[in-house]
Amino acid sequence: NVLLAIETSCDETAAAVIEDGKTIRSSVVASQMESHKRFGGVVPEIASRHHVEVMTIVMEQALEEAGVTPEDLDGVCVTEGPGLVGALLVGVNAAKAAAFAWDVPLIGVHHIAGHIYANHLVEPLEFPLIALVVSGGHTELVYMPEDGVYEKIGETRDDAVGEAYDKVARTIGLPYPGGPHVDKLAAEGTDSLGFPRVRLEADSYDFSFSGLKSAVINTLHNARQKGEEPEQADIAASFQAAAVDVLVEKTMRAVKEHGVSRLVVAGGVAANSGLRQALTEAAEKEDVQLTIPPLSLCTDNAAMIGAAGYVRFRIGQFSDDRLNGVPGLELR
Ligand code: ATP
Ligand code: MG
Ligand code: FE
Repeated sequence: NVLLAIETSCDETAAAVIEDGKTIRSSVVASQMESHKRFGGVVPEIASRHHVEVMTIVMEQALEEAGVTPEDLDGVCVTEGPGLVGALLVGVNAAKAAAFAWDVPLIGVHHIAGHIYANHLVEPLEFPLIALVVSGGHTELVYMPEDGVYEKIGETRDDAVGEAYDKVARTIGLPYPGGPHVDKLAAEGTDSLGFPRVRLEADSYDFSFSGLKSAVINTLHNARQKGEEPEQADIAASFQAAAVDVLVEKTMRAVKEHGVSRLVVAGGVAANSGLRQALTEAAEKEDVQLTIPPLSLCTDNAAMIGAAGYVRFRIGQFSDDRLNGVPGLELR
């Protein structure tokens, strides 16, 4: 089966053609990063406009690169949420129009389900598993007893880890989006500033990163008041170590307590080299099979939406013409 997938939840306009839920025939991503850079974050109105401008071009390119025509398609998948409502609506309406015109099923997909199924494009998922979701808007631990079933066992109570990365980057004067810059800088510094590891209640799988973020800001502020400037690299390294420690600790506890032997990582922060290394070591030690998608599948793309959408396609979980963009959609 061949599915066209569309993703426009944030600032990437993406389309992909996926075969049998696991083979990427094409994956096109048009990033708007340059347009948002000077504002230090994604401007929703600008994002929607850019999506409108390039949506059909990106769809055509995905079909062309895959060497397929609309007649070859068995369905159209699209991110229905969560995300920016105006951005989501562009993809949802393009998908609706395409599915109607080509007379194939329409499948609404949850963006985070997509991030998780990016791993399926690397190595077929085996259940039960634990997924660590670390992105710009989400930090969650998800237990999946089987294909397409998601039980959220923990989530952040304040900032998402990617958001904390971006804020710390801004504080030390690095360009947006700051995650990759902090990551790079961290490799040159040492974990010497003693930032807090926020673990919350002993049995909780929830996260909190706002305290860590404040610790970074306070440390900088106090040093500057004394006319000092701490090493940027040490701030980056200390922040990253504190964030990664807690992420790995809770993830491995979730793996053990749920008796699973498969762990997957999802979302943009899965690109983080510190997190990748620490998780790889921990998984090896505990004899857990770990997959982390390659960088191009960690950040937003439509291939992952096709992979997650295929699970719904296979069991006939289609959407109809009432499909809408839902900013706060629950994981499903
Ligand atoms: P969501 O998926 O929650 O809707 P999003 O789609 O904006 O949010 P992603 O595209 O999955 O998020 O990830 C973007 C985030 O990943 C940004 O916060 C970015 O700074 C962060 N990020 C990317 N690469 C790295 C890295 N190497 N280290 C740390 N963070 C990173
Ligand atoms: Mg993005
Ligand atoms: Fe995302």
